[in-house]
Amino acid sequence: MALALAEHGIDVTLFDRNEQLLSRTAIANEGKVHLGYMYANDPGYSTARMMMRGALAFAPFFERHLGLAGDAMAVSRPAAYVVHRDSQRTAEDVSQYLAAVHALIRESSRQRPDAYFGRDLDADLRMWSHAEREAHFDPQVAVAAFDTPEVAIDPVALADAVRSRVNADRRIAVRTGHEVISVEDGDGLEVVLRAGGRAARERFDHVVNALWEGRFAINEKRGLLPDRPWMHRLKYGVSFRLPEGAGKPPSATFVSGPFGEVVSYDDGLTYLTWYPVCLQGISSDITPPQWPTYPSEPLRSSLLQGTLSAMAQFVPALRDLAPDELQDVSVKGGVIVAWGRTDIYDPASELHQRFAIGVTSAGRYHSIDPGKLTMAPHFAEVCAGRILQDRVR
Ligand SMILES: Cc1cc2nc3c(=O)[nH]c(=O)nc-3n(C[C@H](O)[C@H](O)[C@H](O)COP(=O)(O)OP(=O)(O)OC[C@H]3O[C@@H](n4cnc5c(N)ncnc54)[C@H](O)[C@@H]3O)c2cc1C
Repeated sequence: MALALAEHGIDVTLFDRNEQLLSRTAIANEGKVHLGYMYANDPGYSTARMMMRGALAFAPFFERHLGLAGDAMAVSRPAAYVVHRDSQRTAEDVSQYLAAVHALIRESSRQRPDAYFGRDLDADLRMWSHAEREAHFDPQVAVAAFDTPEVAIDPVALADAVRSRVNADRRIAVRTGHEVISVEDGDGLEVVLRAGGRAARERFDHVVNALWEGRFAINEKRGLLPDRPWMHRLKYGVSFRLPEGAGKPPSATFVSGPFGEVVSYDDGLTYLTWYPVCLQGISSDITPPQWPTYPSEPLRSSLLQGTLSAMAQFVPALRDLAPDELQDVSVKGGVIVAWGRTDIYDPASELHQRFAIGVTSAGRYHSIDPGKLTMAPHFAEVCAGRILQDRVR
């Protein structure tokens, strides 16, 4: 967002209560740049359409602002979508859903064939043979699998690149260690802050609330409380580098329901998340607890061991991995903010539909719910567009 505005000559001040930008959920996710295949429980395709809009804007945004060519960004091996035997949708349903979403992706990418990291989005999705499923999974658990072109990026590497770029931009002032308390009307909009134990106020022409888990609290003080139920869910994931010589698991997304993912990179970087183990908290409060990004012991070890052993039951490449042999182990978690009253174990939960997200503007106050990392560049451009339009009026 700051980069999109600074590009047009607008001065931007970024406030974050943490000591470093991009050090919360932005670095604690698996970095999947969603094309929409995940949302078979939203059969109207609204979530899929939304995700592909974000996905096709993602690499071009960073190419423009970071000078990183889309096809030069390190991406994971593409994900197979794997139907779990306890799936909320049958293999037939998932197969039809994936094919329909793929047709939409083909259509949307026709004008921008290289937009998704320079990858081919045109080839048909391929269903795996029984022998392939047997080679990579327990075929009793993985009842069907389909190749897709969907990839992930390493969010830690991306955050490092964005942070350096933002810090170097003379139009962007970075104020970490500043907690936003409220945004009040005055001469323009005044951001009320707490920093180093002191209160402060700063005046701006426009204010953008992109505080993710802290967003509702500031909106509420401006009378912008949502009129539908929401959930803040704390979810962890584990990443590590495989020991030398270990076989790489395939990247795989298990659908549909409370399952998880393997994200596998050619250099051995591997990310795992398994919902029943990694989901560690739910809050429907306006302000959720400030759950730690890095869990302390014994939770850290139990997340690592629990995730590995749950997934090793049906992913043979994970079976022989001992937690103490893994390198660069990182266990991190963040909040997922989404509309819904019941958890994803409920096939009718609103959590299965993620299209009601985006930018809400009330005058010169803008609140962004990116919904997903995938969507952040797209909504940054939408919000920057509104601010620029207001300035030319
Ligand atoms: C385990 C997990 C896996 C995920 N996987 C994916 C995925 O594969 N693909 C995908 O697209 N999305 C994924 N997501 C979602 C994605 O990570 C989030 O949608 C996105 O990171 C949220 O936006 P953000 O990065 O700005 O949030 P954050 O990094 O949390 O940024 C918000 C910032 O606001 C600051 N802040 C909050 N309140 C205040 C305040 N009052 N004053 C000052 N500063 C404040 C915080 O310190 C924080 O730095 C996942 C999320 C989780 C938890």
